[in-house]
Amino acid sequence: MKLASHMHRALLNWYAKHARVLPWRKNVDPYRIWISEIMLQQTRVETVLPYYERFLTHFPNVQALADANPDTLTSLWAGLGYYSRARNLQTAAKDIVARFGGTMPSTKEELQSLKGIGDYTAAAIASIAFGQNEIALDGNLERVLSRVLAFTGDPKSKEGRTVLRGFGEKLVALGNASAVNQGLMDLSSQVCGIKNPKCGECPLVDFCEGRKQNLLAQIPFKKAKTAAIELNSHGLLLLCEPERGEKSLLLARRKTGDWLAGLWDLPWWLSDEAPAPKKTVKFGEHKSIRTITKHKIQYNVHFHRSSTELQRAELENFLPDCAAEFRWQPLTKLDQVNLPKPSEKALAQALKGI
Ligand code: SF4
Repeated sequence: MKLASHMHRALLNWYAKHARVLPWRKNVDPYRIWISEIMLQQTRVETVLPYYERFLTHFPNVQALADANPDTLTSLWAGLGYYSRARNLQTAAKDIVARFGGTMPSTKEELQSLKGIGDYTAAAIASIAFGQNEIALDGNLERVLSRVLAFTGDPKSKEGRTVLRGFGEKLVALGNASAVNQGLMDLSSQVCGIKNPKCGECPLVDFCEGRKQNLLAQIPFKKAKTAAIELNSHGLLLLCEPERGEKSLLLARRKTGDWLAGLWDLPWWLSDEAPAPKKTVKFGEHKSIRTITKHKIQYNVHFHRSSTELQRAELENFLPDCAAEFRWQPLTKLDQVNLPKPSEKALAQALKGI
């Protein structure tokens, strides 16, 4: 307990002076904290900031998110990746309206009953927004606690969970769980990073066993890497250039259950076979890599042009079953679409050539 209470005091003193100024810390609004925690999953703070403000302008509360147009929602999320997070947010918002009258629930258990909210996120919201004694243990906190305790094992193992969670629970039980969690989050990003921890600036330096025992090279624990799964895919960038009238681009909406489900993108599909569209002329191609979860996908986009807007029945003759819907987007209104980055790059290259 002595170590926990020393660390608690030092951490809270440090946090009082060095807390990062972040938009979701302006007030203690559970909704805003929830959105920030979901956006921050696998994503850096700097990347999240512009998305966060835009998202809250469109959907300032649970009800607005529950009522959101799914297209607007996915387009505001485009570029942040892991699109299931946006869909889960809306499912959870509807659930909050139905089960909790539109008010965010306050306990970790209730929060975890909502779609997309796991152990870490529930603990973060419960402690930061509602002051509950919960430790929000993610990879960053695991790293700091492992170093302080000189724990060199796998934090995800049974032993790791017992040691680190047990110590984290002692810390929050000493009071101000919100500042404990946020202090550890800030310390992990500002001082105790994965590489080159700045021990000279650290408030925990006097009792960090990992440092004293010279174990920092072994923490965080490194699991043997599993190789990325390599796949091949093709995309079709089909421009319609009629003799008269507006030029347009073919878009496809990814099907439910597919990667990037619900998102408007160029039609693309996993295959070694390139498309052979009829009534079109090829004018170029673009190669890049799409990375989705553990998959490294070679993405070959074929540029074609047609003189008319081909309809679904015609498209189905040469496009695999890769889309729930198709639509033709006028080139003058491309700013209304947020394509995923690899498709955006392909489109930029294609449009240079016309
Ligand atoms: S003393 Fe160094 S290793 Fe220990 S918690 Fe602080 S920054 Fe991390």
